[in-house]
Amino acid sequence: MGEAMRLVVFDLDYTIWQPEMYQLYSAPRLTPIDSRSNQALSAEVLEEAKTKKEGHVLTGNSYSPMRVFKGAAFALNEIETMKSLGYDIQAAVASKTDEPSWAQICLRHLVINDNGTTLGSCFKEGMVEISYGSKVNHFERLHRKTGIKYEQMVFFDNEYGNIRDVSTLGVKCYYTPDGMMKEDWETAKTAFGIDLTSSSSSGGTASSCESDLL
Ligand SMILES: [Mg+2]
Repeated sequence: MGEAMRLVVFDLDYTIWQPEMYQLYSAPRLTPIDSRSNQALSAEVLEEAKTKKEGHVLTGNSYSPMRVFKGAAFALNEIETMKSLGYDIQAAVASKTDEPSWAQICLRHLVINDNGTTLGSCFKEGMVEISYGSKVNHFERLHRKTGIKYEQMVFFDNEYGNIRDVSTLGVKCYYTPDGMMKEDWETAKTAFGIDLTSSSSSGGTASSCESDLL
């Protein structure tokens, strides 16, 4: 048998969310969806821009409020489901974003489902690595903290340079140039032989999780 998937690592800017922090003009803040600047937002944008505060989105004076890519929300929901099913799996962040404090605001407020699960709550203490330099360094730190082998890690990033660097460690890396898609997560699960649909114990939980998102 191959290795188990034990650590799922995500880039933030344009992998988990859009726009990127460098595209914001100010720290993201909660604004009501019925305010003048938000009135033209489509239902699809509002769905991806949900925050834990009902009727509010996070705006950083950009062309768009902060939005979570559907595929990222899907993967994080499934990881939460897998944890509840007893899988030894966790999620982490490896980011070089320009505005770490703004990213922390997004992690605190953006949600991944209708239950109000925040992005930040998907990552345990110490599992959010934000710093400059090669992402190899981020992974070395995550490896030291968790003891998890590189071969048991998965990484999603929209920049090919990061994918190239981190794959030298033996991490399974997936390039997500258009933001994380559900297919990217499915491909990674297949590579590790994970099939949640075939498990009778997981069927109910996994499908109810899915219906939240669709
Ligand atoms: Mg990125």
